[in-house]
Amino acid sequence: MTRKPKNIVILGGGTAGWITSNTLLARWSDKDINITVIESPAIGTVGVGEGSTPRMKLFFDSIGVEESEWMPRCNATYKNGISFANWSTRPGFSRYFHPFASQLDQHTITAFYFNTYARRQGIDVHAHPDRFFLSASLSENRLGPRPSENFPFAVEYGYHFDANLVGEFLREKAVQRGARHVAAKIVDVNLTDSGAIGSLVSDAGETISGDFFVDCSGFRGALIQDAMEIPFRSFSDNLFNDSAVVLPTSQVEEIGSQTVSTAMQYGWAWEIPLTHRIGNGYVYSSSFCTADDAETELRTHLGLLDSDVEARHLQMKVGRIDKHWHKNCLAVGLSQGFIEPLEATALNLVCNTVDDFIDTVDAQGFSESGQMTFNERVNDRFERIRDYIVAHYIMNSRADTDYWRQNGENKHVSAELQKILQIWTSGQSLNQEMERQQIRSSYTPMSWTCLLSGYGFYPPIKPTPVDTQSGSKIDMRAVDEFIRRCGLNFEPHNDALRFQ
Ligand SMILES: Cc1cc2nc3c(=O)[nH]c(=O)nc-3n(C[C@H](O)[C@H](O)[C@H](O)COP(=O)(O)OP(=O)(O)OC[C@H]3O[C@@H](n4cnc5c(N)ncnc54)[C@H](O)[C@@H]3O)c2cc1C
Repeated sequence: MTRKPKNIVILGGGTAGWITSNTLLARWSDKDINITVIESPAIGTVGVGEGSTPRMKLFFDSIGVEESEWMPRCNATYKNGISFANWSTRPGFSRYFHPFASQLDQHTITAFYFNTYARRQGIDVHAHPDRFFLSASLSENRLGPRPSENFPFAVEYGYHFDANLVGEFLREKAVQRGARHVAAKIVDVNLTDSGAIGSLVSDAGETISGDFFVDCSGFRGALIQDAMEIPFRSFSDNLFNDSAVVLPTSQVEEIGSQTVSTAMQYGWAWEIPLTHRIGNGYVYSSSFCTADDAETELRTHLGLLDSDVEARHLQMKVGRIDKHWHKNCLAVGLSQGFIEPLEATALNLVCNTVDDFIDTVDAQGFSESGQMTFNERVNDRFERIRDYIVAHYIMNSRADTDYWRQNGENKHVSAELQKILQIWTSGQSLNQEMERQQIRSSYTPMSWTCLLSGYGFYPPIKPTPVDTQSGSKIDMRAVDEFIRRCGLNFEPHNDALRFQ
């Protein structure tokens, strides 16, 4: 295929399928393309995936949909970042916040780097990330992320939402904008002599042809994995979690503006505040505990031991496929891979995969070299995000179960992650060294510094007085005051969610 496809068939009506169709319709609106989305009501969607990164805002902006339109429809709330609780047992570091970036960080980040650098040399300074970032304070005080009009500074934010409602909303948009929606189960895939996809056959006997296919069929990967036999590389060597149990609880009066991720005995539990309920789930490793044990632990954690609210159990396939674009098929979403939900990166990968695909085709058509470099970039994105997630497990200092001990001792880490940890422990500048050694990461040095300092991964404090060691000292009261006064420009989260 050398020119842009005219008939695009998307298999799957989960979040990935509808994000893909909306993005293609928006970005190729001037092209003469037909989009068909096929989904099986009998199979259904995974129905989870309720937290996002700031990438989701770019997606809605790119398809021209306002927050005031989609957020109330999807019971969505704002997300300033993620709070990690009980991952570290180091005194003073039982909890830390991973903020989304803000323009205002430039006023505090130098102090943050200065102190974390000094603390890595054994100097006794304040080196926990939370006091340095506005987003941490906004979350702590249940404020929304959008400042008042007379405070023109951008604060990045993500969202929490009901995954099923987002799917419905995006389906409606795509159909309004011209997508054809087919409710059917695909039971057969016809390949051409060259191994490309020719057509799909539904259980009603309908043959659906196209010249390009997008596999958004979820973990199974019905087109890219089953039919085209593209191999799947598991990440189970360094990410042990393969299961989840999900339970909703009632919303509290003041809605939180952060995700909370609490370490449990055999994994971690998420708490995602929506407008009508709190989404909770426990992501764990089935090699270390049974589904029943996990459910009991989650119920105990939520105070739901005596409740008859039903739990939902899910299996996760963690890893990625080798090629995300093969012949006339692109894989997007769970069909292309999944890195467990710890930093809520899956929809981020969905959006980046689709945009990267469109950019590649726009620039290079369907050339083999374009396809090859696209696949390398997507694989790299998966692996670099995986490294950041793996770092959470390596940094844990819990010793209460084999699960945490084995995670902490795990030696299956990439060369890039090893280098980052080595730079940190040797006390070098993370920013400069990552740049100098050309260590690629999907996360910025700010995020890495928050993670490593947030777990209290520091050497013991040297007994020498602070002033004689560092020469100068950050005035933490001034940092606190700066953050406090910035925070005065943000409204309570509940008010931010009242759309006119
Ligand atoms: C426990 C857990 C927590 C998660 N948390 C987050 C999070 O916080 N943030 C985040 O970004 N992501 C998260 N994710 C990932 C997120 O849920 C998915 O990336 C997202 O929902 C996209 O899924 P999907 O559309 O690829 O697959 P699915 O939702 O599984 O959709 C697959 C679609 O394909 C259709 N289909 C499949 N086979 C056929 C067939 N033969 N014929 C017709 N139709 C077919 C199905 O009917 C369905 O419509 C989480 C995932 C899990 C498992």
